[in-house]
Amino acid sequence: MFVKRKRRIDELSEEELIARQNASFDRRVMVDVNSGCHLWIGARNAGGYGVFGYTGIGTVTAHRHAYRKAFGQIPDGMCVLHTCDQPSCVNPDHLRLGTQLHNMAEKAKRGRARNGTTGAIPDRIISVKRRVQVGV
Ligand SMILES: [Zn+2]
Repeated sequence: MFVKRKRRIDELSEEELIARQNASFDRRVMVDVNSGCHLWIGARNAGGYGVFGYTGIGTVTAHRHAYRKAFGQIPDGMCVLHTCDQPSCVNPDHLRLGTQLHNMAEKAKRGRARNGTTGAIPDRIISVKRRVQVGV
């Protein structure tokens, strides 16, 4: 008697594998109607970025995978930056390419560079910067 069994992942065609990857990815996304952000509700790394793992992909940050899905390969050495400043966002419309330098400059502008995820730059550092600016 023929028993239908679930096919193993290595028996799938390229298209079927990509469809399964996409379905697995989409199950972990929730749309925030106010901001338009597509928030990753799966695992996150220490920086608050989503982490996605699947056969054929390995384990990658979710926003980089979202960018690749929408726009194609990410050139070597380039970062995928958020225009919405929401690390867990995977909306391709909120992602753009930039260098690590751009990334650091934007974080500094938003006050996130010095104190990790809390966002605050300690007062002491601000006052040192001010003194430098006025030449004291
Ligand atoms: Zn966003």
